[in-house]
Amino acid sequence: MSTSGRGLPPEKYEWLQRKLKEFTLSPEAWISTLMSYGISADCLTGKASACPVCGGDDRFTYDNKSGRGDWVCRKCNDGYPMAGDGLQLIARANRMGLYRLMCELEGGAPLSSRAPRNTTAPAPKRKADPAFVARRLDGMWGSARPQAVGDLSMRYLQERVPGLSAGPSPALRLGMLEYRHDKKVLGEWPGIVARFELPDGRLGTLHRTFLDPVKPAKATIVSPDGEILDAKLNDMTLNPLAGGAVRLMAPVDGEIGVGEGLETVYGAHMESGVPVWNCLNRVLLSKFVVPEGLGIKVVHIFMDFDDIDPRTRQSPGVSAGLLLAKRLRAEGYTVVPHRPKLRGTDFADQWKSRWIAAHAAVPLATQARDVSRVALAV
Ligand SMILES: [Zn+2]
Repeated sequence: MSTSGRGLPPEKYEWLQRKLKEFTLSPEAWISTLMSYGISADCLTGKASACPVCGGDDRFTYDNKSGRGDWVCRKCNDGYPMAGDGLQLIARANRMGLYRLMCELEGGAPLSSRAPRNTTAPAPKRKADPAFVARRLDGMWGSARPQAVGDLSMRYLQERVPGLSAGPSPALRLGMLEYRHDKKVLGEWPGIVARFELPDGRLGTLHRTFLDPVKPAKATIVSPDGEILDAKLNDMTLNPLAGGAVRLMAPVDGEIGVGEGLETVYGAHMESGVPVWNCLNRVLLSKFVVPEGLGIKVVHIFMDFDDIDPRTRQSPGVSAGLLLAKRLRAEGYTVVPHRPKLRGTDFADQWKSRWIAAHAAVPLATQARDVSRVALAV
């Protein structure tokens, strides 16, 4: 997320920087301003709560510690911690640029007369006609190509999970996807479309990872206001998502593994050999339901080993995994929880560092010799 308005013409950029510097609000006015932009009062109590941007249930804290509407979220930076001020929070939660936000705030319209926004977090969710959503999702899935060896989606995954040996998944496709922001189409990018299925096999949503058209990396998508936008998004939700997963691989001998991200579960697959499914995030991981009819008896849970939340004194990823373990055991399944060795890592990190260490052994030794030679020469 850009906080600087990069990409704006110089005069707009300078205006924005000046206004950002000058902008002040009383603690009460911060709360009412944030609420008028759809941030739920539940998130603004100073206690750990769900994040208005990325969800969860206790990752976000509003502390206003510098009097600028300050907040911190342990997951907002693509799974890593992020902190910011109230204006950045509004911009992120409403997917709007800081420039447009500042124009609105400077426009002088009293907060109460502004068009009403959603009053509950997380923000922009319109209730759409289910038939429309079904047609949209079917169309997107139908026009995407099944994943194939060597295509951009496979190359992206192999970049993130080096040495990945899993073949194409029937739950993943590669499509050309429109990126919509503020009701406008910003352009088309290639992207991985992941089919999120509910326990009864109905479609929940399609999760999209927008990719760079040339190199195997996430796309960099910038709004007209210079805001860097999220490259990973769910599409419209057809059915409530609780219980479901992206079923990447078929169960083997009644075993399946679940985790909270595409790269993470592929890393876990490389570490363990277990076939894996992706529950998208830790809240959905904790709610995973084993579908009937597939003969699944053993569930491996691949947890993210997040840093400890000082307020709950727990690692959120581990808590979510243990919550799921407890429920599935009560339902009669054999459960095998797995946790990465290092705090602050997930299985994608663990696999990647092990793979790099194994493959970099010789060149590193060579480098060390070269360095010592240089040192001697000096
Ligand atoms: Zn967040």
